[in-house]
Amino acid sequence: MSLSRRVFIENGAMLIAAIGAADAAWAAAPMLSESDPTAAALGYKADASAVDKAKFAQYASGESCSNCALYQGAAGSSSGPCPLFAGKAVSAKGWCSSYAKKG
Ligand code: SF4
Repeated sequence: MSLSRRVFIENGAMLIAAIGAADAAWAAAPMLSESDPTAAALGYKADASAVDKAKFAQYASGESCSNCALYQGAAGSSSGPCPLFAGKAVSAKGWCSSYAKKG
């Protein structure tokens, strides 16, 4: 085997291992707690039906992380990343006051 071919194969193997590690890191991301200071400040609830509607009058029935433009979970997922809460997973059924309807 030529040196360049071997290097190519080794780099490919390392890339695949790195992607696997990134997937594993995401799978292990803890769920966002409603008591997290940022979550609390934004009125995050893991179940949108529990949103304090008096405090967050902009909340409209049917809004949830799963149809928010910022939600990065896969379609049909029960939870996924949100850039506002790095390293945590938000519930697809959740909601916070930064909700932005997916276009
Ligand atoms: Fe959910 Fe959107 Fe708020 Fe993120 S910004 S927590 S996806 S409602």
